[in-house]
Amino acid sequence: MSSPCLFCRIINGEIPAKKLYEDDEVFAFWDISPQAPTHFLVIPKKHLSGPGAIAGEDEALIGKLIRIGAQLAKENGAEQCRLVMNNGAEAGQTVFHLHLHVLGGRTLSWPPG
Ligand code: AMP
Ligand code: ZN
Repeated sequence: MSSPCLFCRIINGEIPAKKLYEDDEVFAFWDISPQAPTHFLVIPKKHLSGPGAIAGEDEALIGKLIRIGAQLAKENGAEQCRLVMNNGAEAGQTVFHLHLHVLGGRTLSWPPG
């Protein structure tokens, strides 16, 4: 049975995405609605609904997401970048499979909206 989760379906190849990176634990792809010249998502293959669902056993995996996100940013001309996770609908989360946004390629303002 296919997963109802959009990002699990992207990992499984059921929904097409512009893949940037993949290994046994991590998948990265370009955001369909980019908010900066460089905007991609780094996700764990393990389904976690968001940052609030991270358990102690996931700590190394989350560190890996950040390391790969920063590395891919550098390789794609956005060494200076913002890495952000939205946690919950009020914070702007719309897809409930944990994802690290990596944004760069322009000057980013702070605070975010
Ligand atoms: P968030 O609002 O933090 O949950 O981020 C979800 C992100 O997923 C948004 O930036 C969307 O543009 C992006 N997104 C939604 N559907 C797709 C898709 N099919 N392929 C790539 N990115 C997507
Ligand atoms: Zn999922």
